[in-house]
Amino acid sequence: MVDVYPKISGKYLVGGKWKKTSDVKNVINPAEINEVIGEVALCTREDVIKAIDVADKAYKDWSQSSIKSRADRMRKAADELNKVIESHVSLFVRENGKPIVEAKKELLRCVDVMKGGADILSDWWNPKSKGDKNQKVQVRKRPRGVTAIISPWNSPMILTFKRSIPAILAGNTVVIKPATNCPLTVLSAFQIIASFFPEGTINVVTGSGSIIGDVLSHDKRVRTIAFTGSTETGKQIIDMSASTVKQLHLELGGNDPALILPDAKLGDLEMQRITMGILRSAGQVCSAIKRIYVHESRHDELVDKLKREFSKIVVGNGIQPDVTMGPLNNKSQYDYITELLENSKIEGANVDILGEKLDDDSWEEGYFLLPSIVTNINHESELVKAEQFGPTIPIVSYSNLDEAIKMANDTEFGLKASVWTSNELQATNIADRLEAGAVFHNNHTVFKDLNLDFPGIKESGLSRESFCGGLDLFADSYGFAD
Ligand code: NAP
Repeated sequence: MVDVYPKISGKYLVGGKWKKTSDVKNVINPAEINEVIGEVALCTREDVIKAIDVADKAYKDWSQSSIKSRADRMRKAADELNKVIESHVSLFVRENGKPIVEAKKELLRCVDVMKGGADILSDWWNPKSKGDKNQKVQVRKRPRGVTAIISPWNSPMILTFKRSIPAILAGNTVVIKPATNCPLTVLSAFQIIASFFPEGTINVVTGSGSIIGDVLSHDKRVRTIAFTGSTETGKQIIDMSASTVKQLHLELGGNDPALILPDAKLGDLEMQRITMGILRSAGQVCSAIKRIYVHESRHDELVDKLKREFSKIVVGNGIQPDVTMGPLNNKSQYDYITELLENSKIEGANVDILGEKLDDDSWEEGYFLLPSIVTNINHESELVKAEQFGPTIPIVSYSNLDEAIKMANDTEFGLKASVWTSNELQATNIADRLEAGAVFHNNHTVFKDLNLDFPGIKESGLSRESFCGGLDLFADSYGFAD
């Protein structure tokens, strides 16, 4: 039992106070679906409007606070959160399902975002001199107002932090809406962080995304919405926000391709990178490798080597240290992947189920799926075309590079892509032709530098994926001149 969670279970945070709602929903452990680990408060429209009232009122003072005090508060909050990471890890694993090592990494990255943001704040905020000899112009920053942060369940901590922390540091007040499946660790962490800031600076509302999203999108006091989630919901937010002309930062779905060229090195390191690119968080990552296009000359070798890697995966309750892949987070995700695999078989594809069950007896108690490799599959198949978000990989072979690039780009998504070749110049040339916000060479990962960002293009987003560097997204720059 995590000692922090009973305080926040079934409650939401407004103006520094924990409030209850008349309606709640159970939060369950996806590795033991009979275990209820807490409740999530189902806020009404009125509850959300009150949260906006409080955030709007708090904005007056917070927006005028000194940069030094914002950074100092954030550093202190980061130190405090860091002290309780261990007690949060198990809560996080139990509501999300990811293995303990991945959960801890994500939580530590949240602390990095807080410290990193505090470290660059002063430089970022300082006015920049522009203009020419005829007129000097100072480019200055000002925050915008109430900022809504809406986040998904797959990486609920980092995706909430990388938006809310820069927003707060930039002088905005926030209303955070975590995913209903996975709200408790976010609530618990922000319980700690909020105590370092003036009341009303940080508010967290929970419950139905469509109700809360509707209120946040239509309220003109909400000046920015930073949303991470599906493309479908992102489109609804664009529609709903049109009447109040907000700044929208939308980080949406993806269907990342990996292109394996005839000269690709497929050694142990590369195979581990490909495997992690596919199976991290059981494939429930917006920018996971979701389809592979391999040159026909390397198809069999790739499949054999990938089978070997997938066979090492141990699937079970993420709380067990030997587990390398946890369950899917929820029933609809589990049902969707199961159905896609069944349909692929009906279409004539080969589905190789690999990996090892940690524990046969408890297998049926969670949303567990073993990792799978799907071959003899057509590029037009739904498993290739959809954002499948599961521990499976369709592999399509090609004979002609132009054809492979065409298939890679044949999607409305444009998040990330990777090119696997020993020829760096060729990798760069192909990267220029791929429609993706970031392209990796012989890897499929994230940028290690927290200040770098990349845009999701096409229907993968309207924004720049960013961590500390996200400060720019939450303030307006304005020119000041004589
Ligand atoms: P989702 O269904 O779009 O939900 C995301 C968040 O939006 C949740 O908090 C949800 O609340 C809320 N929501 C639902 N309907 C809403 C509405 N009408 N208005 C406003 N908010 C609403 O996505 P998901 O299934 O949680 O997450 C998986 C998706 O996120 C995938 O498509 C994945 O690719 C994408 N994603 C993108 C990135 C990126 O950086 N580009 C990163 C991670 C995930 P409830 O939980 O209450 O439904």
